[in-house]
Amino acid sequence: MADNMTQTTPMMRQYEKIKAQHRDAFLFFRLGDFYELFQEDALKAAKELEITLTKRGKGEDAIPMCGVPHHSSEQYISRLIEKGFKVAICEQTEDPAAAKGVVKREVVQIITPGTVMSGQAVSEKSNQYVAAIGEESAHSFAVAAADMTTGEIFVTGAEDFTLALEELLSYEPKEIVLTSEMSEDFKEKLRHRSQLPVSEAANLQIEKDFSALVDQVPAEFLKRTCSQLMQYFLETTKRDLDHLQNVTYYESSQYLSIDGYSRRNLEITETMRDRKKKGSLLSVLDRTETAMGARRLKRWLERPAVHKETAEKRQELTAAFLEHFLERETVREQLRGVYDLERLSGRVAFGNVNGRDLIQLKKSLQQLPYIFETLKALNSSYAEQLIGTLSSPEPLVELLEQSIKEDCPPSITDGNLIKDSYHEQLDQYRDAMINGKSWIAELEAKEKKETGIKSLKIGFNKVFGYYIEVSRANLKYLPEGRYERKQTLTNAERYVTKELKEKEQIILEAEDKGGKLEYELFLEVRKKVKSYIRLLQDTAKAVSIIDVLQSFAEVAEQNHYVRPVFTKKRNVLLRESRHPVVEVTIDAGEYVANDILLHEERDMLLITGPNMAGKSTYMRQLALIVIMAQAGSFVPAAEAELPLFDHIFTRIGAADDLSQGQSTFMIEMLETKQAVERATPSSLILLDEIGRGTSTYDGMALAQAVIEHIHDKIKAMTLFSTHYHELTSLEHELARLKNVHVSAVEEEGKLTFLHKLVEGAADKSYGIHVARLADLPDSLIKRADHILSALENGKNQNGTAEKREAEPQQLSLFEEVPEHPIINELKELDVMNLTPMQAIQLLNDFQQKLK
Ligand code: ADP
Repeated sequence: MADNMTQTTPMMRQYEKIKAQHRDAFLFFRLGDFYELFQEDALKAAKELEITLTKRGKGEDAIPMCGVPHHSSEQYISRLIEKGFKVAICEQTEDPAAAKGVVKREVVQIITPGTVMSGQAVSEKSNQYVAAIGEESAHSFAVAAADMTTGEIFVTGAEDFTLALEELLSYEPKEIVLTSEMSEDFKEKLRHRSQLPVSEAANLQIEKDFSALVDQVPAEFLKRTCSQLMQYFLETTKRDLDHLQNVTYYESSQYLSIDGYSRRNLEITETMRDRKKKGSLLSVLDRTETAMGARRLKRWLERPAVHKETAEKRQELTAAFLEHFLERETVREQLRGVYDLERLSGRVAFGNVNGRDLIQLKKSLQQLPYIFETLKALNSSYAEQLIGTLSSPEPLVELLEQSIKEDCPPSITDGNLIKDSYHEQLDQYRDAMINGKSWIAELEAKEKKETGIKSLKIGFNKVFGYYIEVSRANLKYLPEGRYERKQTLTNAERYVTKELKEKEQIILEAEDKGGKLEYELFLEVRKKVKSYIRLLQDTAKAVSIIDVLQSFAEVAEQNHYVRPVFTKKRNVLLRESRHPVVEVTIDAGEYVANDILLHEERDMLLITGPNMAGKSTYMRQLALIVIMAQAGSFVPAAEAELPLFDHIFTRIGAADDLSQGQSTFMIEMLETKQAVERATPSSLILLDEIGRGTSTYDGMALAQAVIEHIHDKIKAMTLFSTHYHELTSLEHELARLKNVHVSAVEEEGKLTFLHKLVEGAADKSYGIHVARLADLPDSLIKRADHILSALENGKNQNGTAEKREAEPQQLSLFEEVPEHPIINELKELDVMNLTPMQAIQLLNDFQQKLK
């Protein structure tokens, strides 16, 4: 190759120039069969990918370099992407043989964590969002999120930065896109608060091609934020993005809003501790059969509906699936054969589908009529609505049926892709090849017979083409001048004849031309498939909804769920309800079902009961049932009537949140503030042991104030669990607050939690009761009883501890002082020469040592 690597070579100058435009990405620089990385990129990549670092050039001019083979580059790229890096792919854009001087090179794609289209970095069962944020003023923000793999784009407005950030984070984006116009402060704030890679889109003009996509978006400013995303996609992928779908505009009031904290805390899609799906609500509900269905289910649980019609439509088809067991089984089986049409459309637009993808596409589409036929038996109007508007995929199926071979290879350049009879010219080339090859086979047989040399054979290699080979031992049988000698080997001679060369010409030409034609035909088919992208996307949407609803039915049957009824009244009526996740993680039949009753005159429950009795399980149970119901699912109860909630807020007292460190109490208060500021009478608030993170009186006072505020001002439906039994007296003052408690009994000296919720406050002396059962010394228990009754009789209202009956022996300073290292240090101390700060420090040290 003409390129020579030293810093002064033209190629290195070319590298520098390209690298300067892609400072924030690893530049994969194509050199023959390798992608090479140089300088800083090489040092970093060698470490991240654990590949050998080499040098190019000598002495001071030597440049750090490392490389990965082109054919296995995908795994290396995936690894970098998974670590949150970007990779710029720089290809040779002209034939090196034809190049004058340095081969032309260009960056053809920038792969980023949010725009990667295939490989391990793309999770099948969740969307892969890139989010954008726009700031119009301090009170007007826009948030857009798009999934490049499926082409979906969403946009909404937000009133302040915190809400905008919360909305943005709810998408769990892989990266955030900003504009260069935004202030450094804003970018920094976003980087800091989101902890996500932040990129910039250069251009903000809405491309002509995209202007139709934002038609439905109501404000210019929101459109610009969508465009921010689209531009970023264009700049990174450098392709037409025909699969981008119309932007969906929504207002946050369209969905049941669950802030990030509650989402994590309620373990909707993953567990808090290890962030795994197993153990989450999603894992219990997910019996989907397609990746599209799995993604939709996740989205519905993250954004349940607030409109009754939406939820009821879903319930209707779920109910139909429940009633028709056989049809459901059939549909499940049929769905198993449906490929990820949504992501496939993306890859079709991207131009990276192969023959096998197209075969899978065909098979998926061939399943559809059967699925639709099965659905007809359900008599569901929603099912009809879903499939009624879809155009027929028949022409596409026919095209694929006629063109692509069932057993095609993964490569699209090695032939064997296109079926016979699809294209006349290709058939002719194939005939020529087949005829030529059988002519050669016949020639071999004929020559063997005529010369009598049994081992005579006709072979082929790339340098000499076809040849007749006769072994040295048999040369004596070969008539002189029969063939023309071409090559001499140690043990054989190789010959050709004029006719053989003529046939060879025909075969090779047919092979070459046929190969090229086949590739062109494949690209043509692929392009035709591209014109069906909208159909594929619409179909994908319908199939994914059907899939989620059959999954709802499947789970409803197995776990004995009931269809919830939505009421316009402020009524929660759940009979024999269960926590959907806990009930399946403990032994069958072990879960104790509970009623949850709330209404206009009883919209706050104060839940008491010993630790581990089941207070927080009861509260979460309600929240999860609300989420399930509004997502369209049936719920774990014997009977369920619910209003449609607008927000769910959950706050857990700081003492339970051990992992968070010192400022937990502050966080708890900030989160409580959010709930009291944003909740409405249609919200659900769950407060679990609020006020625990501070001293008793302090905490109790706060808890009481919060309860009163919610009761008098917000009027949201609220469950409040507490271990401050004193708060149960609030029932007399707050009209709509009711005491309930989780019961426990003593049986044969053992305390058993019944997990049963009953009306009224818990037995106040439970703590001491438990201590007695635990066999603590009698004297200690007696003393505790005494202090308790003193507290109860109001003898001690000033917040100090109950006076001790017998003072322990005081240590007299004037008697003999015992030996202790600290006392010795004190004795030695030169008090007059200490600064006040040093004195405080010393006191602190002493205290630490004594702890
Ligand atoms: P608390 O909040 O009162 O301390 P939790 O709600 O954390 O108690 O429940 C403690 C344990 O009891 C949980 O691990 C759960 O498995 C179990 N539990 C809670 N409610 C029930 C129930 N209704 N039926 C069976 N087990 C339950």
